Amino acid sequence: MKTFISILFVLIFQLTVVAQTQEQRIREFELQREASERQAYKALLDSAILLSQQGEYLLADSKFRQLLRTTKSVPSDLVYHFGENSFYLGNFKQSVDWLNKYIQLKGTTGQYSAQAVERLKSAEEELMKERLVESKQAGQVLSQDYDIDCGPTGKVTCPVCKGSTVIIKKGYVSDTYKTCPYCHKLGYLGCEDYNLLLKGQLQPSTTKP
Ligand SMILES: [Zn+2]
Repeated sequence: MKTFISILFVLIFQLTVVAQTQEQRIREFELQREASERQAYKALLDSAILLSQQGEYLLADSKFRQLLRTTKSVPSDLVYHFGENSFYLGNFKQSVDWLNKYIQLKGTTGQYSAQAVERLKSAEEELMKERLVESKQAGQVLSQDYDIDCGPTGKVTCPVCKGSTVIIKKGYVSDTYKTCPYCHKLGYLGCEDYNLLLKGQLQPSTTKP
């Protein structure tokens, strides 16, 4: 009986050891996998940075985006270089956003802090220029929004037939003549019709030539 109990103890001990080494192996395997994932990530990041430095901004951009898709916590190197690359792509809003993030993250002591501050300044300047152009476009004054004063006569020579009341179409054999559909054989337009014509809203008369 005594022997049996000691054998049982030895068995239990051995089983525990086996279980422990198995657990250790799984942990080691996990660590290895994480390490190789980190390595692959770092390699992709390095190649993206290199492409950006070589002026291949579009290619670099697609790699940066790939990296951003596969990670939840973005490494600061990626934050800076994505901001820098966005500047060269003319994507100034995106550039300002990421460079600001880098400066918030690293302050003035980060590896790229000096460059980030410098680049952020130019990106903000470019962004401001863009916004100025946009606001000018939004505030553009177009003539079609206004009625044109036709002067004291209230009449304007018909711009379609140039006052001739006929429109001549050049043909191979002979020319065809057609009555101007806008000025009712007058050769001129009243001011109201003239303004409608300028806006493309004057309906041509459907009378046959
Ligand atoms: Zn006419």
